[in-house]
Amino acid sequence: MKPADGKQHLLIDADDTLWENNIYFEEAFEQFVDFLDHASMSAAEIRTVLDEIEIANIKIHGYGAANFARNLAQCYERLAEGEIQQGDLRTVMSFAERILDCPMQLIKGVVETLAYLGARHELTLFTKGHPEEQKLKIDRSGVGEYFHHTAIVKEKDTQAYATLARERALDKERTWMVGNSPKSDINPALAAGLKAVFIPHPRTWGLEHEEIQPVDGRLLVIEAFADLRRHF
Ligand SMILES: [Mg+2]
Repeated sequence: MKPADGKQHLLIDADDTLWENNIYFEEAFEQFVDFLDHASMSAAEIRTVLDEIEIANIKIHGYGAANFARNLAQCYERLAEGEIQQGDLRTVMSFAERILDCPMQLIKGVVETLAYLGARHELTLFTKGHPEEQKLKIDRSGVGEYFHHTAIVKEKDTQAYATLARERALDKERTWMVGNSPKSDINPALAAGLKAVFIPHPRTWGLEHEEIQPVDGRLLVIEAFADLRRHF
């Protein structure tokens, strides 16, 4: 599978591929469950309600910590058993807003691997989410310099990959999407005719899970980001 014929275009996901992200959302959710202190609902049952709220709101508002804060507040309004006290919603929102101040924790081997790949191939950082939040994370991560191009989109669906490929005049035979999400990185990139490298992350957000569609020879699965060196 190792491309022997020169330069490739590598489109690389950011959250939970280059740096930890979902662990902070999970922490915020745990704080929310403690604060809600529901008499009968389990954390998993509360999560199901929150997922419903998130799925509905993502279509309107998109992703990111600020939107997650709004989703937690709505979830609290729906599930709180007693009378909601003044300040409760602010407290709930603060659990999510704190995510914006969390340290950028790069995944092992990312810097060295990007330096290696950037010298050999064309790298595009391809991430979805709130444009300002994502831009801030890229700046704080310090890895922006390794990328020749950056694209932040609202949703990484098949259309988004097709658009990126067309706008950047990417040769599909030499273009790979690298990421941790079957739903946002792997399946839509394959559907758009690109190749893909799946790097599973054990703490991937539940709403990013999806069965990977079968393909012929266009999918590579590796264990760690640093393993990209062996293939590119
Ligand atoms: Mg990701």
